[in-house]
Amino acid sequence: MRIGHGYDVHRLAEGRKLILGGAEIEYEKGLLGHSDADVLVHAIMDAMLGALALGDIGKHFPDTDERYKGADSMKLLAEVCRIIGEKGYKIGNIDSTVCAQRPKLSPYIQTMRENIARVCGCDVSQISVKATTEEKLGFTGEGLGMSATAVCLLLRI
Ligand code: MG
Repeated sequence: MRIGHGYDVHRLAEGRKLILGGAEIEYEKGLLGHSDADVLVHAIMDAMLGALALGDIGKHFPDTDERYKGADSMKLLAEVCRIIGEKGYKIGNIDSTVCAQRPKLSPYIQTMRENIARVCGCDVSQISVKATTEEKLGFTGEGLGMSATAVCLLLRI
């Protein structure tokens, strides 16, 4: 088996949709980025690629490439799953955490888990998504942005 870790940050901005784990979340701001800026899915993809020492999503989906402008991160996740499958691995489990002061994410956690599990072709029990605040400290606490971390265990097919 192989283990990987991922971390990502995006800034919050007016006039953007907030997409986390493929779910559209009601909030007055959204995350800024070249793609849909799904910080959770970005951390998860980096964990999966990292487990096989395949670099990061910046290498696979460069933000200088117009093809990825406004990209649906769930489609990129499907591509990462294809890559790890091609290398002879499948997901054992994923554990992830989103850091956000607001909005309250608990009503969306199950949907995010189901979205990720569907795209990855695994059971929802293999996908953990958690959310925390950072007690009003730092950039997430001040509502300037959100961060996410993920670890992923890959198993040989
Ligand atoms: Mg990102």
